[in-house]
Amino acid sequence: MNFNFPPEKNNMPSTVYEPYSTPTAYQTQESNEFERKTLLSDIQTDAVVIGAGITGNTLAVHLSEAGKSVVQLEANVPGWGGSGRAFGSVVPCHKNSEEAIIRHYGEQRGNRLIDALAHGPALVSELLNRHNIDAAFAGGGWAFGAHSKPFYKKLQTRAEYWQARHADVEYLNASEFSQVIGSDYYRGGLIDRRALSVNPYAYARGLFKKAYQLGTEQYTNTPAVDVEQMQNGSWRIRTPQGSVECENVYFCTNAYTKGVWPGLEEGFIRVRGFGATTAAIDPTLLADILPQNHFITDTRQLWSGIRKLPNGQIHLGVGGPAMGAKGKADLKVARRRLKDVYPSIGSVEWGESWSGWIAISTDQFPRILRLANGVWAAQGYSGRGIAMATLLGRELSFCQGDIESEDLILPVEKKIPWVPFHSVSPLGAAAMIGLYGVQDAIADRNK
Ligand SMILES: Cc1cc2nc3c(=O)[nH]c(=O)nc-3n(C[C@H](O)[C@H](O)[C@H](O)COP(=O)(O)OP(=O)(O)OC[C@H]3O[C@@H](n4cnc5c(N)ncnc54)[C@H](O)[C@@H]3O)c2cc1C
Repeated sequence: MNFNFPPEKNNMPSTVYEPYSTPTAYQTQESNEFERKTLLSDIQTDAVVIGAGITGNTLAVHLSEAGKSVVQLEANVPGWGGSGRAFGSVVPCHKNSEEAIIRHYGEQRGNRLIDALAHGPALVSELLNRHNIDAAFAGGGWAFGAHSKPFYKKLQTRAEYWQARHADVEYLNASEFSQVIGSDYYRGGLIDRRALSVNPYAYARGLFKKAYQLGTEQYTNTPAVDVEQMQNGSWRIRTPQGSVECENVYFCTNAYTKGVWPGLEEGFIRVRGFGATTAAIDPTLLADILPQNHFITDTRQLWSGIRKLPNGQIHLGVGGPAMGAKGKADLKVARRRLKDVYPSIGSVEWGESWSGWIAISTDQFPRILRLANGVWAAQGYSGRGIAMATLLGRELSFCQGDIESEDLILPVEKKIPWVPFHSVSPLGAAAMIGLYGVQDAIADRNK
């Protein structure tokens, strides 16, 4: 079978340098279904979608379904950005607490956002089913472990909050939790059966294919390099060898945006996240690890994801040098973590590791931006982006000209958020990540 392994260091101008390819563990589909031409002429359309991650592809599907003519430009290949590199947990809540959401957005909009996020995995599921995309892994949902004493009570309270909202969530004590995950590492934990575990690359590419079938005109290896307003008020997007004129243009470039719209990348801090897979594990050993196929994350601040892939590998969310393109995943720490949780695993052989860029906003909340009349963007999902990209791709389809035609789940903002001291913010973020690491280590010691 001819799989599409994007060439190593496939990097285009007007997007961020990406040192790794997308993981081979995610490459499950034949390449020719996703091959598209580069743009070599000057064309016209209703809407231009820049970027072919989950946001851009969901948007292209919705706009095409609404009868718009759509051109989609992708600098590399579909799923090349965060969407093709994510850990693949689709969770029904935000990183910030529900109280923080209400404080930030007010009672009414805050509650709507909480409900929309709670419905996020179901929305992803619906799209997967409706469009026949094979990207969801069978399994029991999310096992969210309490890694130290103070978090035991916190997770119990959280379970009560969600149960009051009729969510399929349960709190388990240490021994019940250990039965579910096959490890007695945690003091207890929450089981959230609403969550999904997916191959995010297959999800992004499945949406890309659907948009194509619905009539979206797609160009790959075709970066937008410049956007300018014409005298008649419409927009012209230039690419290295062509251009597109349109009424509305949507930046779905998120953490990979670079230089095309002035200041867009200054609205967030770009941080690098890592993933790693083990070599395939002996099936007898694997049967006792996550026996009901949940994915784990825990209450520590830094990377804690562990899940099984259908091919028998274990996949971990991993730390590493977060602030620049140099350096590799910290596999020493990842090995220690895997052996802490599953001591029976013995020696750990690695399959591969990779990284991807994440757009972190200072308050961790995502943004829908109106950059000018007819120019829109969604970004800053802060590492919880699979459901959010699906939601905001749909929301962007209601944004045209200078109006949003529906009451959106997020307010539309006209100013790119200000990140104080943006040019030195990587240093601040690095210090924060270091501090989180120390807090996690202290909590681990007081387990
Ligand atoms: C290591 C890692 C782990 C993660 N784990 C999870 C997780 O478990 N759960 C979760 O919910 N979220 C997770 N995320 C976050 C999630 O992956 C992202 O928030 C989400 O995929 C963003 O989707 P997007 O479509 O907005 O952007 P992206 O998928 O990044 O797509 C942007 C696209 O724009 C293209 N582009 C950029 N500039 C241009 C240009 N000038 N012209 C044309 N195209 C351009 C890029 O090539 C790219 O394909 C993780 C992210 C990473 C990196």
